[in-house]
Amino acid sequence: MTGVSGQAELDGMPARLYPCTPTRLAAWLDCPRRYRMAYLDRPPVRKGPPWAHNSLGASVHNALANWWRRPVGHRDPAAAGELLDRGWIEEGFANPDQSAHHRRLARDMVERYVAGLDPAAEPRGVERTVSMPTRALVVSGRIDRLDERHAPDGSRTLAVVDYKTGRRRLSVDDARSSLPLALYALAAGHVLRRPCQRVELHHLPTAGVHTFDHTGASLARHLSRAEAIAAECSAADSRFRAGLAGADLDEVFPPRPGPGCGWCDYRAHCPQGQAAAPARQPWDGLADDERP
Ligand code: SF4
Repeated sequence: MTGVSGQAELDGMPARLYPCTPTRLAAWLDCPRRYRMAYLDRPPVRKGPPWAHNSLGASVHNALANWWRRPVGHRDPAAAGELLDRGWIEEGFANPDQSAHHRRLARDMVERYVAGLDPAAEPRGVERTVSMPTRALVVSGRIDRLDERHAPDGSRTLAVVDYKTGRRRLSVDDARSSLPLALYALAAGHVLRRPCQRVELHHLPTAGVHTFDHTGASLARHLSRAEAIAAECSAADSRFRAGLAGADLDEVFPPRPGPGCGWCDYRAHCPQGQAAAPARQPWDGLADDERP
Protein backbone atom coordinates (compact mmCIF):
# COMPACT_ATOMS: atom_id res chain seq x y z
CA MET A 1 0.00 0.00 0.00
CA THR A 2 1.26 3.51 -0.74
CA GLY A 3 0.12 6.46 1.34
CA VAL A 4 0.20 10.20 0.79
CA SER A 5 3.90 10.15 1.66
CA GLY A 6 4.49 8.12 -1.47
CA GLN A 7 6.30 5.53 0.64
CA ALA A 8 5.29 1.95 1.17
CA GLU A 9 3.25 1.51 4.35
CA LEU A 10 3.09 -1.51 6.55
CA ASP A 11 -0.31 -3.03 7.15
CA GLY A 12 -1.82 -1.68 10.33
CA MET A 13 0.64 1.22 10.56
CA PRO A 14 -0.84 4.72 10.32
CA ALA A 15 -0.09 6.64 7.13
CA ARG A 16 2.74 9.17 7.39
CA LEU A 17 1.29 12.68 7.33
CA TYR A 18 2.82 15.20 4.96
CA PRO A 19 4.07 18.25 6.91
CA CYS A 20 3.63 21.48 4.96
CA THR A 21 2.83 25.16 4.92
CA PRO A 22 0.41 26.85 2.52
CA THR A 23 3.44 28.54 0.94
CA ARG A 24 4.99 25.18 0.13
CA LEU A 25 1.80 23.90 -1.49
CA ALA A 26 1.50 27.12 -3.52
CA ALA A 27 5.12 26.77 -4.69
CA TRP A 28 4.36 23.31 -6.09
CA LEU A 29 1.31 24.62 -7.94
CA ASP A 30 3.18 27.62 -9.36
CA CYS A 31 6.24 25.76 -10.58
CA PRO A 32 7.51 22.29 -9.55
CA ARG A 33 11.08 23.21 -10.49
CA ARG A 34 11.00 26.23 -8.20
CA TYR A 35 9.51 24.01 -5.47
CA ARG A 36 12.41 21.59 -5.86
CA MET A 37 15.04 24.31 -5.65
CA ALA A 38 13.33 25.99 -2.69
CA TYR A 39 12.61 22.90 -0.57
CA LEU A 40 14.56 19.83 -1.69
CA ASP A 41 17.93 20.56 -3.30
CA ARG A 42 20.97 20.07 -1.07
CA PRO A 43 23.15 22.01 -0.77
CA PRO A 44 20.50 24.71 -1.08
CA VAL A 45 20.33 26.54 -4.41
CA ARG A 46 21.61 30.09 -4.12
CA LYS A 47 18.73 32.55 -4.43
CA GLY A 48 18.82 35.87 -6.22
CA PRO A 49 19.29 39.14 -4.32
CA PRO A 50 16.62 40.27 -1.84
CA TRP A 51 13.62 42.18 -3.22
CA ALA A 52 12.93 45.69 -1.98
CA HIS A 53 9.16 45.07 -1.97
CA ASN A 54 9.71 42.11 0.36
CA SER A 55 11.78 44.32 2.67
CA LEU A 56 8.95 46.85 2.70
CA GLY A 57 6.35 44.14 3.36
CA ALA A 58 8.35 42.61 6.22
CA SER A 59 8.98 46.05 7.76
CA VAL A 60 5.24 46.82 7.72
CA HIS A 61 4.26 43.41 9.14
CA ASN A 62 6.84 43.74 11.95
CA ALA A 63 5.71 47.27 12.81
CA LEU A 64 2.05 46.22 13.04
CA ALA A 65 2.86 43.13 15.13
CA ASN A 66 4.96 45.20 17.54
CA TRP A 67 2.25 47.86 17.70
CA TRP A 68 -0.26 45.30 18.95
CA ARG A 69 2.26 44.07 21.52
CA ARG A 70 2.40 47.51 23.14
CA PRO A 71 0.09 48.33 26.07
CA VAL A 72 -3.30 49.63 24.91
CA GLY A 73 -2.54 53.20 26.01
CA HIS A 74 0.57 53.29 23.81
CA ARG A 75 -1.11 52.26 20.58
CA ASP A 76 -1.52 55.38 18.50
CA PRO A 77 -0.65 56.14 14.86
CA ALA A 78 2.59 57.93 15.72
CA ALA A 79 3.80 54.86 17.63
CA ALA A 80 3.18 52.70 14.57
CA GLY A 81 5.18 55.13 12.44
CA GLU A 82 8.07 55.07 14.89
CA LEU A 83 8.09 51.28 14.94
CA LEU A 84 8.18 51.28 11.15
CA ASP A 85 11.11 53.68 11.09
CA ARG A 86 13.03 51.76 13.74
CA GLY A 87 12.58 48.37 12.11
CA TRP A 88 13.00 49.47 8.50
CA ILE A 89 14.77 46.82 6.38
CA GLU A 90 17.07 48.40 3.79
CA GLU A 91 17.77 45.34 1.62
CA GLY A 92 17.04 45.45 -2.10
CA PHE A 93 16.68 49.19 -2.64
CA ALA A 94 18.64 50.90 -5.40
CA ASN A 95 20.20 53.47 -3.07
CA PRO A 96 19.65 55.19 0.31
CA ASP A 97 17.43 57.88 -1.26
CA GLN A 98 15.06 55.33 -2.73
CA SER A 99 14.97 53.46 0.56
CA ALA A 100 14.21 56.67 2.50
CA HIS A 101 11.45 57.63 0.03
CA HIS A 102 9.69 54.29 0.43
CA ARG A 103 10.21 54.30 4.18
CA ARG A 104 8.28 57.58 4.31
CA LEU A 105 5.50 56.15 2.13
CA ALA A 106 5.36 53.02 4.28
CA ARG A 107 5.27 55.09 7.45
CA ASP A 108 2.31 57.11 6.13
CA MET A 109 0.57 53.91 5.06
CA VAL A 110 0.97 52.25 8.47
CA GLU A 111 -0.13 55.37 10.34
CA ARG A 112 -3.25 55.71 8.17
CA TYR A 113 -4.07 52.05 8.67
CA VAL A 114 -3.83 52.01 12.46
CA ALA A 115 -5.77 55.30 12.67
CA GLY A 116 -8.76 53.23 11.53
CA LEU A 117 -8.29 50.51 14.19
CA ASP A 118 -9.66 50.29 17.72
CA PRO A 119 -6.49 50.02 19.85
CA ALA A 120 -8.49 48.44 22.67
CA ALA A 121 -9.77 45.59 20.48
CA GLU A 122 -7.27 43.01 21.69
CA PRO A 123 -6.58 40.42 18.98
CA ARG A 124 -6.72 36.74 19.88
CA GLY A 125 -3.32 36.39 18.28
CA VAL A 126 -0.60 38.36 16.50
CA GLU A 127 1.84 36.50 14.26
CA ARG A 128 0.38 33.39 15.80
CA THR A 129 1.55 29.99 14.59
CA VAL A 130 -1.26 27.49 14.10
CA SER A 131 -1.17 23.88 13.02
CA MET A 132 -3.70 21.20 12.16
CA PRO A 133 -3.42 17.50 11.29
CA THR A 134 -5.81 15.93 8.79
CA ARG A 135 -5.98 12.36 7.52
CA ALA A 136 -3.25 13.18 4.98
CA LEU A 137 -1.18 16.19 6.08
CA VAL A 138 -0.14 18.45 8.91
CA VAL A 139 -0.48 22.04 7.81
CA SER A 140 1.06 24.87 9.79
CA GLY A 141 1.56 28.57 9.25
CA ARG A 142 1.71 31.94 10.90
CA ILE A 143 -1.33 34.21 10.91
CA ASP A 144 -0.71 37.97 10.78
CA ARG A 145 -3.61 38.63 13.15
CA LEU A 146 -6.48 36.63 14.58
CA ASP A 147 -9.42 38.79 15.63
CA GLU A 148 -12.56 38.13 17.55
CA ARG A 149 -15.58 39.89 16.06
CA HIS A 150 -18.92 40.53 17.72
CA ALA A 151 -21.92 40.10 15.45
CA PRO A 152 -25.08 42.23 15.88
CA ASP A 153 -26.91 39.17 17.21
CA GLY A 154 -24.44 38.95 20.08
CA SER A 155 -22.54 35.97 18.72
CA ARG A 156 -18.77 36.05 18.35
CA THR A 157 -16.70 34.87 15.44
CA LEU A 158 -12.99 34.47 14.76
CA ALA A 159 -11.48 36.26 11.77
CA VAL A 160 -8.15 35.58 10.09
CA VAL A 161 -6.55 38.88 9.06
CA ASP A 162 -3.84 38.90 6.41
CA TYR A 163 -1.96 42.15 5.70
CA LYS A 164 -1.09 42.88 2.08
CA THR A 165 1.33 45.57 0.89
CA GLY A 166 1.73 44.71 -2.80
CA ARG A 167 0.69 47.04 -5.57
CA ARG A 168 -1.95 44.72 -7.05
CA ARG A 169 -5.46 45.75 -6.08
CA LEU A 170 -7.46 43.01 -4.40
CA SER A 171 -11.10 41.95 -4.22
CA VAL A 172 -13.40 39.76 -2.16
CA ASP A 173 -12.76 37.07 -4.72
CA ASP A 174 -9.10 37.00 -3.67
CA ALA A 175 -10.18 36.35 -0.07
CA ARG A 176 -12.70 33.71 -1.15
CA SER A 177 -10.31 31.79 -3.38
CA SER A 178 -7.20 31.96 -1.17
CA LEU A 179 -6.08 28.48 -0.19
CA PRO A 180 -3.67 29.79 2.50
CA LEU A 181 -6.42 31.86 4.17
CA ALA A 182 -8.81 28.92 4.21
CA LEU A 183 -6.14 26.65 5.73
CA TYR A 184 -5.29 29.29 8.34
CA ALA A 185 -8.98 29.52 9.24
CA LEU A 186 -9.23 25.75 9.65
CA ALA A 187 -6.02 25.56 11.68
CA ALA A 188 -7.07 28.50 13.90
CA GLY A 189 -10.40 26.81 14.52
CA HIS A 190 -8.59 23.59 15.37
CA VAL A 191 -6.18 25.27 17.82
CA LEU A 192 -8.85 27.39 19.54
CA ARG A 193 -11.49 24.64 19.34
CA ARG A 194 -14.04 27.04 17.84
CA PRO A 195 -15.25 27.55 14.31
CA CYS A 196 -13.28 30.15 12.38
CA GLN A 197 -14.87 30.94 9.04
CA ARG A 198 -14.14 34.60 8.34
CA VAL A 199 -11.05 35.57 6.31
CA GLU A 200 -9.98 39.14 5.58
CA LEU A 201 -7.38 40.67 3.29
CA HIS A 202 -6.29 44.11 4.54
CA HIS A 203 -4.64 45.86 1.60
CA LEU A 204 -2.77 48.75 3.17
CA PRO A 205 -1.85 50.73 0.02
CA THR A 206 -5.53 51.20 -0.88
CA ALA A 207 -6.97 50.90 2.66
CA GLY A 208 -9.16 48.10 1.28
CA VAL A 209 -10.58 45.37 3.53
CA HIS A 210 -11.87 42.38 1.58
CA THR A 211 -13.88 39.94 3.69
CA PHE A 212 -15.27 36.53 2.94
CA ASP A 213 -17.28 34.29 5.25
CA HIS A 214 -16.62 30.66 4.49
CA THR A 215 -19.10 27.89 5.11
CA GLY A 216 -18.13 24.48 6.38
CA ALA A 217 -18.53 23.22 2.81
CA SER A 218 -16.26 25.85 1.23
CA LEU A 219 -13.55 25.19 3.83
CA ALA A 220 -13.88 21.46 3.19
CA ARG A 221 -13.38 22.08 -0.54
CA HIS A 222 -10.18 24.02 0.13
CA LEU A 223 -8.94 21.30 2.46
CA SER A 224 -9.64 18.59 -0.06
CA ARG A 225 -7.68 20.57 -2.66
CA ALA A 226 -4.78 21.01 -0.21
CA GLU A 227 -4.71 17.26 0.45
CA ALA A 228 -4.64 16.52 -3.28
CA ILE A 229 -1.72 18.95 -3.78
CA ALA A 230 0.06 17.46 -0.75
CA ALA A 231 -0.28 13.98 -2.23
CA GLU A 232 1.43 15.17 -5.43
CA CYS A 233 4.19 16.92 -3.46
CA SER A 234 4.77 13.93 -1.27
CA ALA A 235 5.03 11.53 -4.19
CA ALA A 236 7.50 13.87 -5.92
CA ASP A 237 9.53 14.26 -2.71
CA SER A 238 9.80 10.50 -2.40
CA ARG A 239 11.03 10.12 -5.96
CA PHE A 240 13.58 12.87 -5.33
CA ARG A 241 14.86 11.14 -2.19
CA ALA A 242 15.13 7.88 -4.11
CA GLY A 243 17.51 9.61 -6.53
CA LEU A 244 16.72 11.48 -9.72
CA ALA A 245 18.95 13.05 -12.33
CA GLY A 246 18.86 14.66 -15.78
CA ALA A 247 15.61 14.30 -17.70
CA ASP A 248 13.95 12.40 -14.83
CA LEU A 249 14.43 15.42 -12.60
CA ASP A 250 12.61 17.64 -15.08
CA GLU A 251 9.90 15.06 -15.63
CA VAL A 252 9.01 15.01 -11.93
CA PHE A 253 9.76 18.69 -11.34
CA PRO A 254 9.01 20.39 -14.67
CA PRO A 255 9.64 24.11 -15.11
CA ARG A 256 6.49 26.16 -15.60
CA PRO A 257 7.78 29.26 -17.39
CA GLY A 258 5.68 32.39 -17.70
CA PRO A 259 5.69 36.14 -17.12
CA GLY A 260 6.15 35.57 -13.38
CA CYS A 261 9.62 34.11 -13.96
CA GLY A 262 11.07 37.62 -13.81
CA TRP A 263 10.26 37.59 -10.09
CA CYS A 264 11.53 34.08 -9.38
CA ASP A 265 14.38 33.80 -6.87
CA TYR A 266 15.82 30.92 -8.90
CA ARG A 267 15.66 32.41 -12.40
CA ALA A 268 19.49 32.45 -12.63
CA HIS A 269 19.44 28.63 -12.50
CA CYS A 270 16.62 28.15 -14.99
CA PRO A 271 17.14 28.59 -18.77
CA GLN A 272 13.40 28.27 -19.51
CA GLY A 273 12.58 31.00 -17.01
CA GLN A 274 15.25 33.28 -18.46
CA ALA A 275 13.73 32.84 -21.91
CA ALA A 276 10.19 33.46 -20.62
CA ALA A 277 10.65 36.79 -18.86
CA PRO A 278 13.25 39.53 -18.60
CA ALA A 279 15.29 39.94 -15.43
CA ARG A 280 13.89 42.36 -12.87
CA GLN A 281 15.79 44.79 -10.73
CA PRO A 282 15.39 44.12 -6.99
CA TRP A 283 13.38 47.35 -6.63
CA ASP A 284 11.05 46.86 -9.62
CA GLY A 285 8.23 45.53 -7.43
CA LEU A 286 7.89 48.76 -5.46
CA ALA A 287 4.66 50.67 -5.90
CA ASP A 288 4.47 54.41 -6.17
CA ASP A 289 2.36 56.26 -3.65
CA GLU A 290 -1.12 54.71 -3.94
CA ARG A 291 -3.29 56.74 -1.65
CA PRO A 292 -6.93 55.78 -2.03
S1 SF4 B 1 12.27 30.88 -13.50
FE1 SF4 B 1 10.12 30.29 -13.90
S2 SF4 B 1 10.22 28.21 -14.74
FE2 SF4 B 1 12.19 28.64 -13.76
S3 SF4 B 1 12.04 27.87 -11.68
FE3 SF4 B 1 11.47 30.01 -11.60
S4 SF4 B 1 9.23 30.03 -11.84
FE4 SF4 B 1 9.95 28.02 -12.51
